[in-house]
Amino acid sequence: MQPITKNIFINTAFCSTLGWRLRKGKIRTEFSPGELFRMEQGKEIGRLARERYPDGIFVNEIRSEAAAKRTRDLLKKPQTGVLFEATFLAGNYIARADILVRDANFWELIEVKSSIIAKEEFIDDIAYTTLVAQAAGFFPSAISLVLIDKNYRYGMPIGKLFVKTNVTEQVIEKVKTFQTIADFIDSVSSTPVEPEPQLTFNCRQCGEFAQCLGKEIEAHIFEIPGIRQKAVNKLIASGITSIHEIPDSFSLTDNQKRVVDCVKCGKLQIDPALREKLAAISWPAFYLDFETMMTAIPLWPDSAPYEQIPIQYSLHICESTGKIIRHRDYLADPHRDCRRELAERLIEDLKGEGSIITYSSFEKTTISKLSKTFPDLSDDLQSLIDRIVDLEQCIKCVNHPKFCGRTSIKIVLPVLVPDLSYEGLEIADGDTALVTFAMMAQGKMDTGEMERKRAALLEYCKRDTLAMVRLHEVLHEFCGREK
Ligand code: SF4
Repeated sequence: MQPITKNIFINTAFCSTLGWRLRKGKIRTEFSPGELFRMEQGKEIGRLARERYPDGIFVNEIRSEAAAKRTRDLLKKPQTGVLFEATFLAGNYIARADILVRDANFWELIEVKSSIIAKEEFIDDIAYTTLVAQAAGFFPSAISLVLIDKNYRYGMPIGKLFVKTNVTEQVIEKVKTFQTIADFIDSVSSTPVEPEPQLTFNCRQCGEFAQCLGKEIEAHIFEIPGIRQKAVNKLIASGITSIHEIPDSFSLTDNQKRVVDCVKCGKLQIDPALREKLAAISWPAFYLDFETMMTAIPLWPDSAPYEQIPIQYSLHICESTGKIIRHRDYLADPHRDCRRELAERLIEDLKGEGSIITYSSFEKTTISKLSKTFPDLSDDLQSLIDRIVDLEQCIKCVNHPKFCGRTSIKIVLPVLVPDLSYEGLEIADGDTALVTFAMMAQGKMDTGEMERKRAALLEYCKRDTLAMVRLHEVLHEFCGREK
C-alpha cells in the first residue's frame, strides 16, 4: 500500500472512490503536451525561487525514509539555515516542503506556486504539508505562499519575479479541519474493496467522470448549461441522471429548458434571428483566427508573466458563402518579438471592405490589446474591430440535441460538418499550439523539429478558419438561402 501523498489526501477528501483508486494505483494519468509544459515551467519557477537562498541544502534522497531521516538530522543542526524539499513522514503520511527558512529559533515554511493568482487550493496544499510536518513533530512559526508577481516585466532582476504572502492563519485553520478527517482518509483509501461511487455535484469536475459515473449515460444532467448544485441535488435525489428523464415540470431557466427540450425531442431547432444575423455579413468575408502563446517568465520586452502574446493567424477570404478566393497566414519567428510585424501584416491582409468573421470574442480582444501596445497603429486596428462579426453568436441560434447548449467550434464542427475534423493533424488544439510555440521561443527545439512544428502550426490554424467557412455555409443552408 503506497503512503498517502498530498494528491491522494486532497482527492480522497473530494471523493473516497477517487482517493481509493489513486492510492491503489488504478488511475494512470496521461499528461497532455500542455500539462507537461506547465509542469516543466513549475519546476523552473521552483528552481528560481530556490536561487534566492544560495546556502540552501537540498534534501534529495529518493527513498522517503532516508529523506525524512536526513531532514530530521539537518533540522537538529543549529547551522542549518535553509532546507529545500524537507521531507516529513508521519504514520502513513508523507509530505515535502518546498523551502524551510530558519530565523533564530523560528522556522518559516514556504510553498512556491507558478501562478499569478492566489487560489484556495494552494491553502489546501500547504495545509496538508503542515499537517504532516506537525504530526512528525515539526511546527513552523510562519507559513508563506510565494507566487509570481504579475507586475514583473521582461528584463527585471529575477528577484522581482516573486511575491510572498503570509498565510499562517488560513493554513492553521485548514489544518484543524484536515486533522478531523485524516484518520478517515487513511482508512477509506486503504479498504480492500473500492468505496461505492456516489453521484454528487463534485463529480462534474472529476477527471475520472467519463470512466466512472458518467459512463454510458447519454446526455448526462451535468451537460445542462449553468446547472446549479441545488437543482443537481434534487435530480439526484429523484434518481435522475439523464436529461431524457427530466420531467417537464422541473424548474429550469429559459435557456436550460430550451436545451433540455431540444435533447428530449431530438430535433434541430433554428431561431429565426439567425437569418438577420447572417444578413449583417458583408462580402468579401475574411475568416480570421489567432493563436497565442504565454510563458510564466516573459520572453519579450514589456510583456508580463502569462501574458497572451499573439504569434499566428490564419485568414480565409471568401467572395460569397463557401467560395474561397484566397488564404493568407502569418507565423512569428520564435526568436524575436514579432507583435508589431504581426499587427502590420494583419492590417495589410485585412485591407478593404467586408466583414471579418471570428469565432468568439477572442480575436476582438487580441486586436484591441495590439492597438494599446502600438498606439500609432490604433486607428487601423480599431477599424478592423468595427468590421468583426462573431460567428459563434450565429451558432447560438442553432439548438442541436448534440450541442447541449455548447457552442465551442470543437463541439459543433463534427455535428454540423462531419466530413471536416481536426483528426490526423499533428497539432489539433489551441493549448498544444500555444505550448509548441512557447517551446520554440524558449529554444527547446532543434531546427529540424522546429520546421516540422511550424508546418503543423500553420496547418492547425488554417483548419480553424476553414472550419468557420464550412460552418457559415451550413448556417446559410439552414436559412434556406441560395448559395
Ligand atoms: S465520478 Fe464522482 S464518484 Fe466517480 S471518482 Fe469522480 S468524483 Fe468520485
